[in-house]
Amino acid sequence: MNRVFGPVYSRRLNKSLGIDLVPFKTCTQDCIYCQLGPTTCKSLERISFYNVEDIIIELEQKLKGVSPDFITLAGSGEPTLCKDIGKLISNIKKTTSIPVAVLTNGLLFFQPDVRADLLQADVVCPSLDAGNEYTFQRVNKPDPAIDFETFLNGLIQFRHEYYGKIWLEVLLIRGITDTMEEIIQIAQCSAQINPDRIHLNTVTRPPSDPALSGLTLSELEEFVSLFTPTAEVIAEYPTLPETSTSQKEIQPEDILAVLQRHPCSLSELSFALDVSEGLIKPLIKELIHQQKVEVFDVRGRELFRFVNK
Ligand code: SF4
Repeated sequence: MNRVFGPVYSRRLNKSLGIDLVPFKTCTQDCIYCQLGPTTCKSLERISFYNVEDIIIELEQKLKGVSPDFITLAGSGEPTLCKDIGKLISNIKKTTSIPVAVLTNGLLFFQPDVRADLLQADVVCPSLDAGNEYTFQRVNKPDPAIDFETFLNGLIQFRHEYYGKIWLEVLLIRGITDTMEEIIQIAQCSAQINPDRIHLNTVTRPPSDPALSGLTLSELEEFVSLFTPTAEVIAEYPTLPETSTSQKEIQPEDILAVLQRHPCSLSELSFALDVSEGLIKPLIKELIHQQKVEVFDVRGRELFRFVNK
């Protein structure tokens, strides 16, 4: 079934084993900075996409070979669109003591069933990229049924009901959300949500809109004290993943399974697949030739991304 992927090094969660709960680019939003490209299925409808028992079997198999810091519900779209996310978290908790994190855009938090489904997660990481309706529509391009006030109130309500950790991610974009006025509005909304941590991020991976660019680290650092609690700038990686020297056999599909959830550099692929860079290189070259993978240069760093055909 291949819904479990990684481990990948994420900037927030360190070594994280991912579970992808929705088909590629099935999302409630179409963020202009999305590293997976444009949303192909924008929807608010919650669906049972995959069998929970099958996912748990796959997870148990994977956990025999790795010890991640988190099991992360994320991947190639919005995980709260999976109707079974609550049941899945509950079953993961019966399987392992590894903490469960959920990466979400938070758009569906206005729905009580979505908030209830996430109560058992250890960490929930929603996004807040705008502090007003105009910028929200411009940056996140949500399903038209949801306005900014509904979205923000959903996040505030979740804070009242949830006793786990909320780590809010704020992603700033050059020329759009890099002015003091925009950032102060975001900080004011963030204060209403009252998260445990705030992670300040910018465009560092190939965005859906190729014209976008990010802020420098020093620019981000200028804004951290505007937030309560003080924001943390999340660098690209807390530590660089160690590449593997394993010579085990892999297939092109193994590489695609990782890139479908997360654009990666060669070293990240080597880490995620536990196979040497030398074995990955010719397969990547062939996948690029077949136009199944594209290559980007982001600030001098070569990243590979899945091409959704
Ligand atoms: S960044 Fe996340 S929320 Fe935004 S379009 Fe991509 S998958 Fe959806």
